[in-house]
Amino acid sequence: MALNVAPVRDTKWLTLEVCRQFQRGTCSRSDEECKFAHPPKSCQVENGRVIACFDSLKGRCSRENCKYLHPPTHLKTQLEINGRNNLIQQKTAAAMLAQQMQFMFPGTPLHPVVSTSRLMMGLMIKALVRAMPR
Ligand SMILES: [Zn+2]
Ligand SMILES: [Zn+2]
Repeated sequence: MALNVAPVRDTKWLTLEVCRQFQRGTCSRSDEECKFAHPPKSCQVENGRVIACFDSLKGRCSRENCKYLHPPTHLKTQLEINGRNNLIQQKTAAAMLAQQMQFMFPGTPLHPVVSTSRLMMGLMIKALVRAMPR
């Protein structure tokens, strides 16, 4: 049991469901055809899901025997959609939090917080756009 995986960033949106048939060795589809992930042995499967390699989404993973899944094109697309939805959710949550803060503590100097998170969002959106296939 390897319990040394402690992802700092939120990787929930980066997970993919593993093909059950593949796990049993009975899936007749190839990685590109199956709508579920076919992870190699080096990938850690947890609760029937694998974490996709964030770097491979950007096309720049150079790790040998990467322990994260390098998804085929159609799953990459799915992850990009997940990632975008995740960003939107975070943005909405941040906006709601800011509103709540203002409501609960009128006069709270919100601007430093808001501008920082906006900067972060901008960077993340840029990273996502760069990851998009042309
Ligand atoms: Zn399969
Ligand atoms: Zn990788």
